[in-house]
Amino acid sequence: CGIIGYVGSTGTDVTSILLEGLSRLEYRGYDSAGIAVLTTTGVMALHRRAGKISNLANAVSNGSRPDAGTVGIGHTRWATHGRPNDINAHPHPDCTGTLTVVHNGIIENYVELRQELKAAGHIFKSETDSEVLAHLIEQTYFGEAAHDLTAAVQLAIQRVKGSYSIAVISQEHPDVLVGARCAGPLIVGLGEHEQYLASDIPAILKHTRNIIILEEGDIVTLRPEGISITDLQGHPLDRQPHLIEWDA
Ligand code: GLU
Repeated sequence: CGIIGYVGSTGTDVTSILLEGLSRLEYRGYDSAGIAVLTTTGVMALHRRAGKISNLANAVSNGSRPDAGTVGIGHTRWATHGRPNDINAHPHPDCTGTLTVVHNGIIENYVELRQELKAAGHIFKSETDSEVLAHLIEQTYFGEAAHDLTAAVQLAIQRVKGSYSIAVISQEHPDVLVGARCAGPLIVGLGEHEQYLASDIPAILKHTRNIIILEEGDIVTLRPEGISITDLQGHPLDRQPHLIEWDA
């Protein structure tokens, strides 16, 4: 339902940025919420809760330490496949928890993809259609894409049918956030030494008014110092930012 992503410099309170962004997406409706933050010490900290964002915020603050880091993603879920519970909430990890994915929308061919990935040895933990993305990207990342996260997302998405948008981060890339828009809403917010990704402008308006509206088939790679956009085949695209003058 709602997506937020952040990449910036070391030691940022990524957790608060994500939770605040999610609360600005609450008006769209949701049944569960979650965040993944790659912490300053290199741990992929994953928190997911059914129910209100306040449940998630409590679970996070009851943890042993706040998750400062460089990059993170968050999600409010409106379940289409699988009950609204903690395990089905996003972000979804791959087999080892190295990478995590949030997903809006529906994967139409998830049954075939799940069968294929299970046969290849992937272990599924949730009932969602979304989890196939984590395993598919894991497979391309360690295979053909040779540890290039953007290439892994491109290759994975070429196999997925549906209308959706996604955001992906990996423990191996503390300075990279990758997003893809395939007929689901996704925007980029340009900052100074930090960049934002979201399904909706109000989620990031507090941080930047310099917004790029992604188009269908766009894949964006965000790094603290800037962003680059390509099509599904990896050809560079030029998308101009808009200055947002209204307030959320
Ligand atoms: N189809 C996905 C699920 O049920 C994503 C739903 C959404 O867009 O929130 O988990």
